[in-house]
Amino acid sequence: MILGYRSDVPPETVEVRRSSRRRRTVSAYRDGEKTVVLLPAGLSSIDEEQWVRRMLDRLAAKEQRRRPSDDDLLERARELSARYLGGRASPSSVRWVDNQHHRWGSCTPDHGTIRISTRLRGMPSWVVDYVIVHELAHLLVPSHGPRFWSLVEQYPKAERARGFLEGFSVAASGTAEEY
Ligand SMILES: [Zn+2]
Repeated sequence: MILGYRSDVPPETVEVRRSSRRRRTVSAYRDGEKTVVLLPAGLSSIDEEQWVRRMLDRLAAKEQRRRPSDDDLLERARELSARYLGGRASPSSVRWVDNQHHRWGSCTPDHGTIRISTRLRGMPSWVVDYVIVHELAHLLVPSHGPRFWSLVEQYPKAERARGFLEGFSVAASGTAEEY
């Protein structure tokens, strides 16, 4: 079953799946553009509606926690600089931008400004942290040389995050991304 749900927010495609084996557990997850809600078979339609609404709210709240504001990003960047780069990179601003389709992040070293693609919103925080560290390192070393990578590697999950982002890019577009 596919239905547009909730008139107070942009239409959201929700697919409700009922399972007779799923006696008590209700769960929900995003699957591309749609949201799948798993319900037990025996629910009344009123209960179903309440559960679907509740699970959508819960998912949205969880995602909100993973979507820091620009101010949060700047604070986070300063923490990451202090922890992994000896505080040497001092960004003047870090903000989300939605016009970067082929990059995860970019920066202008002369101004100390960093831009992070909104496509990273909702991704695990250690991945977002990696992109911030990457751009922080560019404030110190503009090119992708050995000195640059030795800075980035101070962040323990750098390699794992790069793999995560490469996998994501290949799955999404069939091509690798630059950042
Ligand atoms: Zn780079």
